Amino acid sequence: MAGVAFKAIDKVYGKDVKAVSNLNLEIKDKEFMVLVGPSGCGKTTALRMIAGLEEATSGDILIGDSRVNDVPPKDRDIAMVFQNYALYPHMDVYDNIAFGLRIRELKSGAWQLAHLAEAKKIKVDIDNRINEVARMLDIEKYLRRKPKELSGGQRQRVALARAIVRKPKVFLMDEPLSNLDAKLRVQTRAELIRLHRQLGITTIYVTHDQVEAMTMGQRMAIMKDGVLQQCDEPEKVYANPVNKFVAGFIGSPPMNFIPSKIVVDGGNVLVDCGEFKLPLPEDHPAKAMNGKDVVLGIRPESIFDRNMESHVKATVNNVISAKVDVLEPLGHEYVAYLNAGPHNFIATIDTGTKIQEGQTAQFMVNLEAIHVFDAETEEAIR
Ligand code: ATP
Repeated sequence: MAGVAFKAIDKVYGKDVKAVSNLNLEIKDKEFMVLVGPSGCGKTTALRMIAGLEEATSGDILIGDSRVNDVPPKDRDIAMVFQNYALYPHMDVYDNIAFGLRIRELKSGAWQLAHLAEAKKIKVDIDNRINEVARMLDIEKYLRRKPKELSGGQRQRVALARAIVRKPKVFLMDEPLSNLDAKLRVQTRAELIRLHRQLGITTIYVTHDQVEAMTMGQRMAIMKDGVLQQCDEPEKVYANPVNKFVAGFIGSPPMNFIPSKIVVDGGNVLVDCGEFKLPLPEDHPAKAMNGKDVVLGIRPESIFDRNMESHVKATVNNVISAKVDVLEPLGHEYVAYLNAGPHNFIATIDTGTKIQEGQTAQFMVNLEAIHVFDAETEEAIR
């Protein structure tokens, strides 16, 4: 087992496509780290550099304590699981899983005729290992089937089995669930988490799906345009995004952004969007920014129907008035599309609500969970 580190990594394709810029990131031994970001942000490139499938333009990549920039992929002791499974179509499941193990033993020379007893022992050992992972992933029934005779979910489990059976130091996974339907994705997500707990192998998982990042990662690293934006535990990123990009990327439905100004009035620091003003804590750094253009960030789940029970209580400071444009029922809650003057925003409201489309209603904002961003730099002011 081993940790992985990027030290000042740059990756430039051709003359000027900067896929990854000055990436510094340490993934701890046994950690499940998710690299997440929109298409083209450089996450796959970062993963492929660990695998040795891309060369870093500058900087160091470490697996354990060793610099691996010049180590060929096959000697890095990593296993990669891809979106498209990459199974051998002409081999059955058993042989697909066995393939990597056999190659390794062949290279070691132990399978020569002169060592018949040794070869038999290896065969039994490989057989035991395959049966063990097949049990673990519930694919024992399919060991003699060809990949084309399996469903997408079963194929992905075979791809995982093939990776696991090698007991690598590090697992690399590139959007491994994106070909599965929604239900199977949720199920396989849980399976991967369970496997990681069971095996404790350092795992680096690439996805563009923030829900996967939130639910699977012990930590998540959010990238944009080749630059790491923030790396922390999912709850911490959710509660304290460092900038407007991360704030908008993590959370669903996404955070509402409302153009506002800071107004300092005596001891009060307010965020004023014209239609309503919300107070910030007295010691908020915005108190030195009277008149500054900012963006107020409120998550849909931080807005509550005033007439419903919630842990947030109505005060003179936290009630706002808004017109309900559309109420979208999701079964367990409503997504309410609201507007206050020129500002459109979304709230998620419990199903017991009496509010109706077309009505102007009162809502409470959880003041402890509002965010303020510099309108120019988009950095969080906190
Ligand atoms: P996606 O989620 O779409 O796979 P990603 O975040 O994984 O995106 P990368 O595949 O790492 O992004 O690509 C990062 C940037 O590098 C993109 O601008 C992409 O166009 C560019 N890029 C990737 N591979 C190459 C290549 N072989 N040659 C030139 N440019 C490339």
